Amino acid sequence: MSETRAIKDYIRTIPDFPIPGVQFRDVTTLFSDPTGFRQAVDALANPFTEDRLTTVAAMDARGFILGGAVAYKLGLPFVPIRKKGKLPGGTIAEAYSLEYGEAIVEIHHDAFDPGARVLLVDDLLATGGTAVAGVKLIERLGGHIVAAAFVVNLPDLGGSARLRELGVEVLAVGEGVTNIAPGDRCSIEPYMNCGACFACRNGHGNCCENLNVIGVMVDGGLRERFLVRADKLHPSTKLTYDQLALVETLAIGCHATDRGAPQTGDHALIIGAGPIGLSTLEFTRLTGATVTVMDLVPSRLEFVKKTYGIDHTVVFKGDGSELEQMHEITDGGLYKVVTDATGNNRSMANALNYVAHTGTLVYVGITTDEISFAHPLMHRREMTLKGSRNAMPGDFTRIIGLIEDGTIDTNPWITHRTSFEAMIDNFDDYTKPETGVLKAIVELV
Ligand SMILES: [Zn+2]
Repeated sequence: MSETRAIKDYIRTIPDFPIPGVQFRDVTTLFSDPTGFRQAVDALANPFTEDRLTTVAAMDARGFILGGAVAYKLGLPFVPIRKKGKLPGGTIAEAYSLEYGEAIVEIHHDAFDPGARVLLVDDLLATGGTAVAGVKLIERLGGHIVAAAFVVNLPDLGGSARLRELGVEVLAVGEGVTNIAPGDRCSIEPYMNCGACFACRNGHGNCCENLNVIGVMVDGGLRERFLVRADKLHPSTKLTYDQLALVETLAIGCHATDRGAPQTGDHALIIGAGPIGLSTLEFTRLTGATVTVMDLVPSRLEFVKKTYGIDHTVVFKGDGSELEQMHEITDGGLYKVVTDATGNNRSMANALNYVAHTGTLVYVGITTDEISFAHPLMHRREMTLKGSRNAMPGDFTRIIGLIEDGTIDTNPWITHRTSFEAMIDNFDDYTKPETGVLKAIVELV
């Protein structure tokens, strides 16, 4: 897990400053810590990596420290909104009242062209007096406020409500949340683990004893909004929603591959060329192992050959001919790693026949049926038999990187698309393998 602290933990509170009764949030301790400062700047800038902005504006004075860094990160012009009398050129001004005083802020009248899309940055949102004045100045110059972003939001003081009344989207870095910022696009790791059981305490939340998987044990994503723990969100500034939606599917195969751990030069067999088998294939091929894929359906194997350039495919006919082919492919040694992704108990029992002596068999597909096999089949080979359940948090980060750098192409995965309105009618088809569905994407916009 990340060892970074929450941004709020870098900020200290100084009582009775600048006047008695005021609890002053001192961000200098955030600015003086390179890790904290970078986290804060990233959190403010990351929601805007798309072409949503033309200009970053910030409020005098602490806002400049953040705003300048945000503008640098985004590669955009920076515009200061300063206290009265500080700007040398022609200005326009707005007065505002503070928690503890009154003031006037100014902006250069030629700071940006009309139509500019502006992000307004400040360190802290309290009563919103300065921010509202900043918004008014920007709008008077013909700019459009895309959002106002702060490191600290004190919603009890009403500033965020005032800004929202003006139609301004308010983004504040969440308290205690360090890994994501408002507006980030994320992949969800849907394994809600307890953190307390034996597995969780040993770093294996993927097979928590009290696991709730979103969409399986608890309601899933077919809702307008729901709350998700921040540690289960894995952001990417580069991936599309389509790509992010596929990260979890890929994670299943990533973990299964790690469980079997084939090495360069090993022969690895994947049984079942459905979504789980294909996600295992994505990662097994990256290990440098020589991959064979077996399935009942020749068209699925054609897809594997065409899409992944896999030379060795075997059609399972139930007549024992597959074993002959496998001996040929592996020079008689059979497979160092066999991964069964069928979820069929007969296939899973049969899979032991394909494992090399001292090899490993991984069950990634699941069944509620019993699996039985003759014990010598396993023991003579000194076989290792492993389950593979869900995936690890680090798998999500790794996969996002592999899609970002082009190692994994998600396009072949998306075989069907539907609108939110048509989804119910189409849903049944997506459960039938004969329709060729790997993944169907529901488009919301
Ligand atoms: Zn647990």
